[in-house]
Amino acid sequence: MASGSVDFSLTEDQELLCSEVRRFAEERIRPGVAERDRHHEFPAEILREMGEMGLLGMMVPEAYGGAGLDALSYCLAVEEIARVCPATAVTMSVTNSVCCWPIVRYGSEELKNRVLPPLASGAALGGFGLTEPGAGSDAGSLRTTARRDGDAWVLNGEKAWITNAGFAKYFVVVARTNPDAGKRGLSAFVVPADAPGFSVGQPEEKMGLKASRTAQIYFSDCRIPAANLLAEEGQGLKVAFGTLDHSRLGIAAQAVGIHRRALELAVAYAKERVQFGVPIAQHQAIQFRIAQIATDLAAARLLTHTAAAQEHTSQAGRLAAQAKLYASEAANRACAESLQIHGGNGFHDDYEISRLYRDVRVTTIYEGTSEMQRMVIARGLMGR
Ligand SMILES: Cc1cc2nc3c(=O)[nH]c(=O)nc-3n(C[C@H](O)[C@H](O)[C@H](O)COP(=O)(O)OP(=O)(O)OC[C@H]3O[C@@H](n4cnc5c(N)ncnc54)[C@H](O)[C@@H]3O)c2cc1C
Repeated sequence: MASGSVDFSLTEDQELLCSEVRRFAEERIRPGVAERDRHHEFPAEILREMGEMGLLGMMVPEAYGGAGLDALSYCLAVEEIARVCPATAVTMSVTNSVCCWPIVRYGSEELKNRVLPPLASGAALGGFGLTEPGAGSDAGSLRTTARRDGDAWVLNGEKAWITNAGFAKYFVVVARTNPDAGKRGLSAFVVPADAPGFSVGQPEEKMGLKASRTAQIYFSDCRIPAANLLAEEGQGLKVAFGTLDHSRLGIAAQAVGIHRRALELAVAYAKERVQFGVPIAQHQAIQFRIAQIATDLAAARLLTHTAAAQEHTSQAGRLAAQAKLYASEAANRACAESLQIHGGNGFHDDYEISRLYRDVRVTTIYEGTSEMQRMVIARGLMGR
């Protein structure tokens, strides 16, 4: 590409990936999506198939059984899945970007060879344990402890709001290894769900993403091999924040996928619903709403793709935060507007927009609230 020019086209491989994932989502995920939402049913079989397609270890190098793809390809796939089922998309994105990604980035060779192949093939799902009942946005105040005992680490404490808890086989967990070192006293580990002393709480009753699983996880003298440390002792926050700086791309892409569907549904309904003798699409108030949803979608997608394409630059964390902030807020507005266009029917469970309206809400909250994104962006621009 000549200097100064901008190329926004996707590669042939990326186009192919989009059409394959779109077809899979329509054929395998769409049927039953409302039922799984209604019954809070985890799509285990669908995820197994997604693993076989390489969708759960997309950025894992091929040497460890992954697809070895870039962040933009990953975002394109998440968008296609989220357009059909945001709950399946979050299960996918957690395995890819907050479990596999930090293991690739910060794990030892031995650890990568041990845990990445099952994760990348879908034989095992992944999870991420940072949040605690008393430590959300202020992750540095977390209280779960890990102490060294011979060739093991022994963890005690609890983590809240853990996606894939009860289904994931490996969790990336941040715990306090030095009580006197403040934010530098944290370390990150890979905790297998079958480790002695590990347990999972009751599923949370959530307002949306009902086909995804969220629960607390507990460590009671939970012993894991010393070799399961990520990076070095004391670098837990660096691992956590480095991971989130990258993983927010996945949430931005999830929001773009939901937004896209909200637009499709608004257009279809507006053309079909007749009031005052004409389809409501002919009323300018409706047209303006749809024009705004579409314009916001174009901006959100562009920010997300631009941030993904710059994943290896020094601006990557700020750009991903900008993409996540904008895309999640825009998708929330889009779902609210699309629902309004659906009138009373939008409030009925039989209409897809009502599920999307519930599902989209959390995108401005998890992997850092919009307020935290603004802090990350400001720090990226001005330092602390
Ligand atoms: C469905 C779901 C799935 C999740 N999955 C995971 C997971 O897999 N792993 C995991 O570790 N966590 C997970 N989380 C947790 C999620 O990341 C946290 O909920 C999020 O980081 C916010 O933390 P909190 O809920 O404790 O809110 P709080 O930190 O208590 O924030 C409450 C409000 O105060 C605001 N606030 C806080 N501090 C400031 C400040 N300094 N300036 C301005 N405003 C501020 C926040 O923006 C927010 O609006 C999940 C959450 C949900 C809902």
